[in-house]
Amino acid sequence: MGKSLLGNGHVIPSTPIAIDMWNVKKCPQARVFFLSHYHADHLVGLTSAWKYPIYTSSITAKFLINISKINPALIKSLEIGEDHLIPLDSEGEELLTVTLYDANHCPGSVMFLFSGYFGDILYTADFRYIAGMFEGFDIPPIDVLYLDNTYCSPECIFSTKDDAIESVLSQLDLCLVQGERVFLGLDSLGKEELLHRIAKERQCKINVYQTRKNILDILGMSDIVTTEPNTRIFVVPTNQISGKNFEKWNNESKTHAIIPTARFCGYKFKPFSKFRDIHVIPYSNHSSYYELKDFVKLIKPRAIVPIVSREMKGMFGADISDRADMSVFQQFLRDPFPSECIIPESVKKTMNDSEAQLFSALPLKKRKIARPLNRPWRRPLAVGVRFIVSEDSGTDSDPDAIHIESKEFSNEDIMEYSSPSTSESDESNEEKSGDTWEITHLTGEGPPTVYYVREK
Ligand SMILES: [Zn+2]
Repeated sequence: MGKSLLGNGHVIPSTPIAIDMWNVKKCPQARVFFLSHYHADHLVGLTSAWKYPIYTSSITAKFLINISKINPALIKSLEIGEDHLIPLDSEGEELLTVTLYDANHCPGSVMFLFSGYFGDILYTADFRYIAGMFEGFDIPPIDVLYLDNTYCSPECIFSTKDDAIESVLSQLDLCLVQGERVFLGLDSLGKEELLHRIAKERQCKINVYQTRKNILDILGMSDIVTTEPNTRIFVVPTNQISGKNFEKWNNESKTHAIIPTARFCGYKFKPFSKFRDIHVIPYSNHSSYYELKDFVKLIKPRAIVPIVSREMKGMFGADISDRADMSVFQQFLRDPFPSECIIPESVKKTMNDSEAQLFSALPLKKRKIARPLNRPWRRPLAVGVRFIVSEDSGTDSDPDAIHIESKEFSNEDIMEYSSPSTSESDESNEEKSGDTWEITHLTGEGPPTVYYVREK
């Protein structure tokens, strides 16, 4: 579509750890790659030709295999809420501990807690904070917090997801009384809770476009959607809801449209104000300004790095560099870093050797109790130790994300804006208690080899 999409990835300085960063030329020292979630602005540069292991959640693993066609042998899915040890050098001497947390952003989205010679780093990626999301987890004091600053502005205030869903449902009722059909602007991943609620409340299937259908099939939500036209509720990609299309749709049949998005928050203009029957309802999968403050107050890091850079532009090229100003959190920070970290020699060597091969061992440490967030696509957590193997098994952008687009925008575009195009196998039920570690070697072929070792 002639758009250039900038990624939201980072490489942790003085480490070979890359998150949502797939341009290996730009980060020559990166050796260990993590993916936070399956939105296009976090996948820039990741193609089916990718050659390195990718650590991610089991749901994102399924998207990578089934949609991006990444070699399944490369995908290492990690269980949420457990500590995993990953080697950071080719000798397997220096280890990284990583723990994933549900980011409450879209299916499969996670935050990463990295612990190692560099300290303790919490990388939120895209997330929506809710009180209690870390209940049952033991979070260490954080040195550096990489924060999703998408809506880090006092102007960006919106209701909770639950309230936003209720608002959409009420608006939908009104629209269905006044019109023949309703077009709902949703990109292909995210806001599944809304679709689930609509299907349940209205007792009907929702028409979705094919890429959205593919995602819902993978999530096991096929039963609430259809690609047949025999319904009154239609999901269309958000960027298809434009003044021009709206007039066309209304020539066919009386149509209303609802766009559940917070992307217009923080700007002075009111989108679609000329159109009485296009309703924008702020529904966000990112934290609001006050939620960010509550989150930072809880984490009390020593330093904060904004994930969305100062250079990123907002809607219509707006300057939103103030959202990268982390001084608003100054009052919540702990003491600053005492000194820079020392990179172990073996890691240095690995970072300098582009041919370095890292072990893909995935030792699972002590199990933690994860309190799952209520999600329609979530199955109950199994009891016991589980291994994740990647044998089972078009991308979509984050509809609320900030992007740079190559197009120059003017005020007229407000009406015609172009939105950013935008495994599991339960095995042993034995609870390995006390000081036993379970070491699982995953090769991507056949069953995992399991070793048990004593913790020193
Ligand atoms: Zn996202």
